[in-house]
Amino acid sequence: MKKKWKEWAAFAAACLLLAIGLAIPARPAKPAQRARPVHEAAGPLSGRILFLDAGHGGIDGGARAKDSGKWEKEINLQVTEKLQKLLLASGAQVIMSRESDMEYSQNKRQDLTARLEKAASGKAEMLISIHMNEYRDRSESGPQVFYRKGQEKSRLLAGVMQEQLIQGLNPSKERSALSGDYFMLSLNIPSVLIECGFLSNSAEEAMLLSPEYQYRIAKAIHDGIIEYFSLSSP
Ligand SMILES: [Zn+2]
Repeated sequence: MKKKWKEWAAFAAACLLLAIGLAIPARPAKPAQRARPVHEAAGPLSGRILFLDAGHGGIDGGARAKDSGKWEKEINLQVTEKLQKLLLASGAQVIMSRESDMEYSQNKRQDLTARLEKAASGKAEMLISIHMNEYRDRSESGPQVFYRKGQEKSRLLAGVMQEQLIQGLNPSKERSALSGDYFMLSLNIPSVLIECGFLSNSAEEAMLLSPEYQYRIAKAIHDGIIEYFSLSSP
């Protein structure tokens, strides 16, 4: 009898523990997270693949600043790196034509072809080529965007970009986007070549060399890219 009572007590205790266990809700499962590639962050440009080309490089210095003697290729890369950072922060995947002072070929056409192949093989959906201008008349100034004639999407992108550069940089001379027959603009994706300003103009050269002004250029281009996608997306 005594033994049976003990068995009942053990049984009751087991039931109580089971009841307590059932009463405590199971820890809710964590919501399943969508697998994202590591390069893709959240932001207005999430999922976009953009190709940035810092013009010239290596043996090809591009234009030379009249006062400082700096080569265009260096300033192009500085602006492009600032733009890359901003675009990555907005969630884009960025492919760079170059991240150092190099050329793909000493033959200019082959060098540009290699850059375009990199954009195409990376499945870039937009191409931005960064340059600095020069002109024999040293009073010329202001940023100017070029697109390829007949490419309607590129024309739209160029117009949006020109406006953003005018708003962001407040140049004394306001230029309009122009069509230009540049080989770098020959891919069938929205493509623009941006001449950020004139290295032949003393006042503009000083601005183009300053990190603050370079950042303002990069920010204006970044904002132009976002505006373009918001206009062109259904
Ligand atoms: Zn150039």
